[in-house]
Amino acid sequence: MKNFETLCVHPLKDKNDKGAVTSAIYPAIAYDYLEEKTLQYPGFYSTYNQESLGEIICNLEQGKWGMIFSSGMAAISNAILTFVKHGEHIVFSKDLYGGTLKFAKEELPKRGIECSFANNNSDSFKSQIKDNTKLLYIETPSNPLLKIVSMSEIAAIAKAHNLITVIDNTFASPINQLPLAKGIDISVHSGTKYLGGHNDLPYGALVSNNIDHKEIIFNTAKMYGGSLSPYECYIAERSLKTLALRIKKQNENAMEVASFLSNNKHINKVYYPGLASHADHKVAKEQMTGFGGMVSFELDTDLDGINLFQHNLKLISPALSLGGVESLICSPVYTSHRYLTKEERLQIGIRDSLLRLSVGIENAGDLINDIEQAIALTLH
Ligand code: PLP
Repeated sequence: MKNFETLCVHPLKDKNDKGAVTSAIYPAIAYDYLEEKTLQYPGFYSTYNQESLGEIICNLEQGKWGMIFSSGMAAISNAILTFVKHGEHIVFSKDLYGGTLKFAKEELPKRGIECSFANNNSDSFKSQIKDNTKLLYIETPSNPLLKIVSMSEIAAIAKAHNLITVIDNTFASPINQLPLAKGIDISVHSGTKYLGGHNDLPYGALVSNNIDHKEIIFNTAKMYGGSLSPYECYIAERSLKTLALRIKKQNENAMEVASFLSNNKHINKVYYPGLASHADHKVAKEQMTGFGGMVSFELDTDLDGINLFQHNLKLISPALSLGGVESLICSPVYTSHRYLTKEERLQIGIRDSLLRLSVGIENAGDLINDIEQAIALTLH
């Protein structure tokens, strides 16, 4: 296995035409089928650029095979709908991206799929398993509170009960953690975030540790759709070349920003798994090689103050999404968790004063200065 920095830059052997050092783009959607074993068609996820991007992400995640979708939600919904049918049951973490939570609370029950929600620890997952349970679904670090659950404990429980495990690995990226090496079956990504990394490309990815999953997931995905175009596959492939470099810088910047926030008297709480004060720091240290670029914090103010603070930022953009080179900030109340009622948000610990910061690759000092001046303007 090559090191990540090398694997990102030189991802595939023998793929290049005519000596080009980068991949080719094959825009065709129609292919001669007479001599071919597999039918090539974008909706079958089988064209050159789709397959090569899937292979690169599979190598980064150290899986058996990978496939690409047009969004993170397409990867998530296809993974779940492949394995769970009417009358069966899933245990999800309570702490999830708002869209996944809505899918579990509203869409899956419409299809007769029962969903339960566990706290971020393995005992809670174990206690929710029933005779009809089919799948355990985790997100670690979670959106937006950066809670951590032990991947190897979840994998062990699943093996003991013959269940499939799915992780949303968006926040960590394969550079910071390798779920399949910890026994998780399937890792999904919103590639829109760190894998794409430039706030300009929506896509999704799925990597499995089991080659037998390939055909059944493809068969589901062909029916539900959500395939990515060759052009976007190419941009995604190019973006991956700097993934290791970007993540390293984002890990370092986030640690500096989190330390600054922890020592500021106007910040009530900082959530960053790299801080010794984080409730799950010990587990994070065991299973992550870097703590990621996401930092959440509570500013000592109300919702109006939170809005004013975001207006007062000059460098960091208040915008939905995360994981890109530009630092972005958002209030989960207005963005990722707006679907939930205030009570539902409070149950999972999301207060009105919470802000979620996606730390980019800018100079850390410049980011800290921006936050400091916005605090001074907001809470003078
Ligand atoms: N998973 C996580 C952790 C996310 O943050 C998001 C989007 O914010 C998604 C999944 C959904 O991804 P997409 O917007 O690419 O469908």
